[in-house]
Amino acid sequence: MGLNKKSVDDINVAGKRVLVRCDFNVPLKNGEITDETRIKAALPTIEKLLKDGGRVILCSHLGKVKNGPNEGESLAPVAKRLSEKLGREVNFVADYNVTGEAATKAVEEMKEGDVVLLQNTRFRGKEETKNGEEFSKELAELADVYVCDAFGSSHRAHASVAGVTDCIRAKGGECAVGYLMQKEIDFLGNAVENPVRPFVAILGGAKVADKLNVINNLLEKCDTLIIGGGMAFTFLKAKGYEIGKSLVDEEKIDYCKEMMEKAEKLGKKLLLPVDTVIADGFPNPIDAEIEVSTVDADKIPADKEGLDIGEKTAALYADAVKSAKTVVWNGPMGVFENPILAKGTIAVAKALAETDATTIIGGGDSAAAVNQLGFADKMSHISTGGGASLEFLEGKELPGVVAADDK
Ligand code: ATP
Repeated sequence: MGLNKKSVDDINVAGKRVLVRCDFNVPLKNGEITDETRIKAALPTIEKLLKDGGRVILCSHLGKVKNGPNEGESLAPVAKRLSEKLGREVNFVADYNVTGEAATKAVEEMKEGDVVLLQNTRFRGKEETKNGEEFSKELAELADVYVCDAFGSSHRAHASVAGVTDCIRAKGGECAVGYLMQKEIDFLGNAVENPVRPFVAILGGAKVADKLNVINNLLEKCDTLIIGGGMAFTFLKAKGYEIGKSLVDEEKIDYCKEMMEKAEKLGKKLLLPVDTVIADGFPNPIDAEIEVSTVDADKIPADKEGLDIGEKTAALYADAVKSAKTVVWNGPMGVFENPILAKGTIAVAKALAETDATTIIGGGDSAAAVNQLGFADKMSHISTGGGASLEFLEGKELPGVVAADDK
């Protein structure tokens, strides 16, 4: 899919103030950043804008900010790490108001090549999350040009993603997407809309209900759809199998039947587990040592719970991946947080790592699993946005993309 949107290569930022919406929503533990992937992913766009002579004003959200502004969700640790990565001082405006006097002053004092980071946009509460006009205007007042590079937030029509673009345009400014946005959309868009075939899509995770539209859309686009994880059991139940105490979406059984019929009608392969790893119940705590055994998928005892795909299934899925030219994967094959139940997820990750196909990991838990298992380098693309990539795979338009100027 060609992205017909202005990018940072299409705009002139020399001497201008450029507001860049990044996704600096990084995991923190005791105030320390535990995974800097999202910071690293933002660097190419920032460096390009600096090279072109822009004054770069960065903004982002961090965390959910459920109880109002607080130091635990301040972007201060990001400013520090970003300064190290860029090799230049990032001037952090710690003011909980995000915009306002402190931000205005910091921006006024900027010289070419300077970088300012505003405070967590979610500190403005509903003004940010409900796309508030006033906050959008205040953000736009700080800049001449706007760049969205926050793929992980691009599925939300928030003020710093959507509203701000109208205000920038109203004063004659341009709105573009950054390199990260472009890369994400190129990979995900090409995979879904214009895949080199065979195209295999692998879906896992907990519930069918969370991925109804993804299943439906991918079934139309792919050649083979592989289902694993907790959501497979609703499909198995729809086939009439006993699934014991396994996770099930009772209300989605008919939907699963529909999808199986649709696959048949379209001549698509829909692969379901042929065997499953079972235990007495869900591990508690999640990484507790538990006793497991493996049974065929149609022989799950009534008092057992299926928690991972079995070896035969893993081999079947790996085989399907082997002959693919494009693979998209979202959602683990089992309760991968527990090493005893991570084998199915590892087997699939390994199959993806070993193929020459274009391999795309759709963020969230599968991205975490691939990173954890050390396979990250072997994938063509690991999305930085779980929710955003899922909406993309559903075929939805992302507000953060729509909001940029057409070329
Ligand atoms: P995200 O929403 O972060 O993008 P995801 O789409 O990769 O994640 P989820 O739908 O959130 O996946 O599901 C992941 C969870 O599903 C994991 O915590 C895993 O333990 C759980 N899970 C996988 N298989 C099973 C199973 N057989 N029974 C119960 N839970 C399972």
